[in-house]
Amino acid sequence: MQIRQALEKGTIELKISNIESPKMKARLLMQFVLNKSRQYIIVNDTQNLTTNQEEMYKKAIEKLKKGIPIEHITHQKEFMKLTFFVDNNVLIPRQDTETVVEEAIKIGRTIKNVQILDLCTGSGAIAVSLAKYIKNSKITAIDISHKAIQIAKKNAINNKVESQITFLESDLFENLPEQKYDIIISNPPYIKKDVLKSLSKQVKKEPIIALDGGYDGLDFYRKIISKAYDYLKFSGYLILEIGYDQKEDVIDLIKKQDKYNKIYCKKDLCGNDRVIVTY
Ligand code: GLN
Repeated sequence: MQIRQALEKGTIELKISNIESPKMKARLLMQFVLNKSRQYIIVNDTQNLTTNQEEMYKKAIEKLKKGIPIEHITHQKEFMKLTFFVDNNVLIPRQDTETVVEEAIKIGRTIKNVQILDLCTGSGAIAVSLAKYIKNSKITAIDISHKAIQIAKKNAINNKVESQITFLESDLFENLPEQKYDIIISNPPYIKKDVLKSLSKQVKKEPIIALDGGYDGLDFYRKIISKAYDYLKFSGYLILEIGYDQKEDVIDLIKKQDKYNKIYCKKDLCGNDRVIVTY
């Protein structure tokens, strides 16, 4: 079978199974199977697939039809123009989170030899991006999951920033020695328990501990906000990713502490409230 024929067949099958962006996904799987660029596939679309490649492609299409996220098949996700390895032990980095990282970069670049703490690092997307884009930054990246830490380390090595990041397996601050940071950043689990059930087939294949924010979705904000101040330098910043409807609740939690002077919120590219910064 030719590349073009396989692509057409794959696209139709994905469409029938109601998979979003079927054409693009069929092509991305082909790139993955052949380990070739988009350009190569367009230029060489009459090339015949080997039996092995055809088999591999079919299997990948079947997985996608079952709702397995494409990133779990290709094990790759682009984030902040960097490539991250992902599997079902970590949340797939979201574009929304780039807004959070961009705000942190802006702040981080104003601080000399900035020291950053990243809580709930998961794949390490935030920690690795900050290390990459803020010169001389030093980052401590924490996750409760051993497997997530392994993946974050791998991503730091792949992106050549491992010397800037210290990894620690810990339930938030639990195993963290007393130390003061310029910035504490986190994209914690923030989905309400009863909303978890209604997430898409694809999102349900991601680790629930990376999504479950408890009954009101605010469990992690409560814990982080009440402890963060002890780990922040006098002029330090706390930067939190939030769900689109959590701005008021999270601001209330911060105000209750009566420790921070300023709070502001930034929207993501879709126009949803996404980042809370306090200092
Ligand atoms: N933004 C993610 C989602 O909607 C949730 C991320 C999180 O809980 N931190 O699936």
